[in-house]
Amino acid sequence: MYTDFQSYLQTTLKEIEEAGLYKNERVIVSPQRAAIKVSTGKDVLNFCANNYLGLSDNQELIDAAKKALDERGFGMSSVRFICGTQDLHKELEQKIAEFFGTEDTILYAACFDANGGVFEPLFTEEDAIISDALNHASIIDGVRLCKAKRYRYSNANMEELEECLKQAQAQRYRVIVTDGVFSMDGNVCPLDKIHALAEKYNAMVMVDESHSAGVVGQTGRGTTELHNLRGKIEIITGTLGKAFGGAIGGFTTGKKEIIAMLRQRSRPYLFSNSIPPMVAAAGCAMFDMMARTNELQDKLHANTEYFVAQMKAAGFDIKPTQSAICAVMLYDAKLSQQMAEKLLDEGIYVVGFYYPVVPKDQARIRVQISAGHEREHLDKAIAAFTKIGKELGVIK
Ligand SMILES: *Cc1c(COP(=O)(O)O)cnc(C)c1O
Repeated sequence: MYTDFQSYLQTTLKEIEEAGLYKNERVIVSPQRAAIKVSTGKDVLNFCANNYLGLSDNQELIDAAKKALDERGFGMSSVRFICGTQDLHKELEQKIAEFFGTEDTILYAACFDANGGVFEPLFTEEDAIISDALNHASIIDGVRLCKAKRYRYSNANMEELEECLKQAQAQRYRVIVTDGVFSMDGNVCPLDKIHALAEKYNAMVMVDESHSAGVVGQTGRGTTELHNLRGKIEIITGTLGKAFGGAIGGFTTGKKEIIAMLRQRSRPYLFSNSIPPMVAAAGCAMFDMMARTNELQDKLHANTEYFVAQMKAAGFDIKPTQSAICAVMLYDAKLSQQMAEKLLDEGIYVVGFYYPVVPKDQARIRVQISAGHEREHLDKAIAAFTKIGKELGVIK
């Protein structure tokens, strides 16, 4: 049997490669941070991590993790409800709820699991899930696991959302689901309008704050801060794997009855391991830091503003952004690859995105700004973009 299957896989892999879609992994041999070393020995500046607050190598978090490692051991060897709950897990859940202004929180191994396990326990074939077309893969998969009737509106299109809501009036309960920040353009969901439509058509709202938590809003509390909707959204999901230290872990936070039901019925929670104590402890230290100071958010916002302004001044076409994602539009797929390669030669690590990850003829380089970037890092990137941009005829 395997001989046949093997040649099928080999053929398919070759097709992926020939289509130019094969994903190669660049090997990093330093901690994750602004200035990294890759396995070729080259030192590069990293502009493609989700390390928005620069916390991936933060000493305070490392110390908290080390302390927990010494005091609480390495792993839990259990799911939460058998013997996998430490006070650290409960503490972290409380701190997440305080951060977002919600009632309670449930932890998962990753936000992929939070999204995978949120719909099926709450909604049945009598209900409706209304989803933005650009929502994250984990939301799409989570919706697939649930029998609710599905509606889809194109990205941030409020007329289409309203149409879906009208059609969904026949269902028992309705929930509108959206990413907080869409990762390819860096645009923030119009949560104020979504919330207003939800009120008008008697629906609930779920926001995935994975790319927005720590980033969006003056104090990084996410899209509910930006749109003055703190405490008004029923379900928020998010990750500890991006701005919040970048290790591992996800969560759902929101109305307490929803969280209680998830603890009873959510399959990735019931049938998958607890996060390790060191991750919970570092998470607690991280949220304490967020409560204590806004330094990192302020720096991130200043960095993003500076980078976007300078890149625009240099003549680049930048998508409007309210996040730390800055899409440098090139439109041509090949050009985006070429430019990313040449930038790497200049010591700037960025990635080109093209169809099918973004729509056809919408190729771009996605730059992710971090509070870990110093002004000199940003200046070096801007200079490299300008040099290569001129070389390739992207700017004059
Ligand atoms: C990254 C991301 C996830 C997955 O988070 P993990 O914790 O890495 O599983 C889920 N949703 C969105 C919108 C994301 O950007």
